[in-house]
Amino acid sequence: MSGPAASFDDLRDLYQEVILDHGRKPRNHFRLEAFDASARGDNPMCGDRVELFIKMDGPRIGQASFLGRGCAISQASASLLTEAVPGLTPDEARALSARLREIAKTGARDDSTPALQRLSALSGVHEFPSRVKCATLAWHALEAALDGTKETSSE
Ligand code: ZN
Repeated sequence: MSGPAASFDDLRDLYQEVILDHGRKPRNHFRLEAFDASARGDNPMCGDRVELFIKMDGPRIGQASFLGRGCAISQASASLLTEAVPGLTPDEARALSARLREIAKTGARDDSTPALQRLSALSGVHEFPSRVKCATLAWHALEAALDGTKETSSE
């Protein structure tokens, strides 16, 4: 039983590394000069705030950025989001968001695409129900932005 346990720990360390890296050095952490959609997310339980900006390029998301503050998980998740959604249509981005929420809630990793593989770094939060909201906050904001609403709070 030590084999699988060891590799699970290795994976945990790798995931931890991804979250710490994105938490410390968030990607696309600025307000877009011009954007087509934006939304705020608020997770009062943890004090996390995220404001997301989306610029479209034709039918696809061209660029995504965010401003925010809060715990490493909430900021890492927002950072990962801004790298994952460019090139996707709004429907594809919604589908990715649904997968992310499932990963965070159930802990089931998804290695079917490189993007989902990276996002699976957030799978560990399912062990800590209060942190699931941290991980999904930016994604609720993404869906709100795509739906054209401005405010959302993580459920
Ligand atoms: Zn948090």
